[in-house]
Amino acid sequence: MKPTIVLVGRPNVGKSTLFNRLTKTRDALVADQPGLTRDRHYGVGRVGDRDYLVVDTAGFDPVAKDGIMHEMARQAEQAIAEADVLLFLVDGRAGRTPHDEQIAARLRRAGRPVHLVVNKAEGLERAIVSADFHALGLGAPLPVSAAHGDGIKQLVELVLAPFPEDEDVEDAAEKGPKVAIVGRPNVGKSTLVNTLLGEERVIAFDMPGTTRDAIAIPFERGGRPYTLIDTAGLRRRGKVFEAVEKFSVIKTLQAIQESNVVVLVLDAAQDISDQDAHIAGFVLDTGRALVVAVNKWDAVDDYRRERLKEDMARKLGFLSFARFHQISALRAEGINGLLKSVDGAYAAAMANLSTPRLTRTMQAAVAKQAPPRHGSARPKLRYAHQGGMNPPVIVIHGNALENIPNSYVRFLERTFMEAFKLQGTPLRIQFRTAH
Ligand code: GDP
Ligand code: GDP
Repeated sequence: MKPTIVLVGRPNVGKSTLFNRLTKTRDALVADQPGLTRDRHYGVGRVGDRDYLVVDTAGFDPVAKDGIMHEMARQAEQAIAEADVLLFLVDGRAGRTPHDEQIAARLRRAGRPVHLVVNKAEGLERAIVSADFHALGLGAPLPVSAAHGDGIKQLVELVLAPFPEDEDVEDAAEKGPKVAIVGRPNVGKSTLVNTLLGEERVIAFDMPGTTRDAIAIPFERGGRPYTLIDTAGLRRRGKVFEAVEKFSVIKTLQAIQESNVVVLVLDAAQDISDQDAHIAGFVLDTGRALVVAVNKWDAVDDYRRERLKEDMARKLGFLSFARFHQISALRAEGINGLLKSVDGAYAAAMANLSTPRLTRTMQAAVAKQAPPRHGSARPKLRYAHQGGMNPPVIVIHGNALENIPNSYVRFLERTFMEAFKLQGTPLRIQFRTAH
């Protein structure tokens, strides 16, 4: 399970600083992609081999009564309701304020684990800070410094400890890919799910096993097993799936986190929206494999099809690793091709990449185009090995690797992608420099 951590607190206590710290390790691996839009309120992080989702309610004011602040308060309420665990941030330098007390009162009723985090605690007397914030009635305050990084790792480990770890990759492999079907409202997600499941029997039905009701539905198609991750926007009603709840960003992101392969559904009749691009950007952040389904292809004419292609090239250019399929969920057209790409993307995401082949491929790339010199140092790439799956991580060892430019990283990615036929999954390259 990949828990969702939601940050709450009044303005200026350091939520965005903490958010950046909690998501930084992963962000650094996704070097800037041209055209990639990020929503800085949602991000993924990792400590050890544990993944989590972080939501920053910065700018949301949980006590506002009307206007834009009220709308933000509504979103904060939704984030609190969808959290697995809440981090309530206060400012150790400012001391306890009435606003903190109002938020604390709200959080005591949240029905979720809450950790009281005292930020800006660098150089402060621990006992004095603790006494002041103990009065909020949320247990022992945990001092950290988001700006300096003090206490952050311990905090995350403490926060994640109660949640079950993910199952072994080996066990998971027998059940086939876990697939999340995501997209904004009305693009045709429920229609697609019903088309997928309609012809084949649903093998069994997992009941919610965790605090959060993520539901996994195993099914078979063409003799192959898959597990569908319910996105909560989609819920089973009797025999069919319907979008029963209001669209929820957090639940969409949770489903992406829990999956191996994401099917991002777009509506061919609509232009690509910011929301489409944000979901796509998040898929890239998590490193999940991706297949794009351009749905309602039956409903658009040639002119519209051309326009859409240009629109996608402009706004979703950073998804060049993914296959795009034109489908009609309603008429069940293009579905087998789509699933074939899901299989391919899953195989690529889980591929075993041998060290000798990786190293040979890397050497061939360097022979073709050497990395640029930085000052007096010429980066030296020595050998490569695999450091993870879903997404595949390729670790390159050598000297003076700190200053390899993004453009060269992209070149290496393309080279590995082609050599190992990894279409469908993003790829991460990490450098380890020997000193
Ligand atoms: P937010 O409004 O809650 O998102 O707060 P920000 O993350 O924007 O931080 C508000 C201010 O507090 C900024 O000036 C930060 O540089 C500062 N700040 C954040 N974390 C720390 C910290 O650990 N120590 C100190 N001294 N300042 C911090
Ligand atoms: P969701 O909100 O993403 O789950 O979208 P739905 O599956 O509820 O579909 C929204 C609307 O689009 C419904 O009226 C569907 O009948 C329609 N729709 C879904 N797929 C297609 C398609 O392939 N072609 C056409 N023409 N309409 C579709």
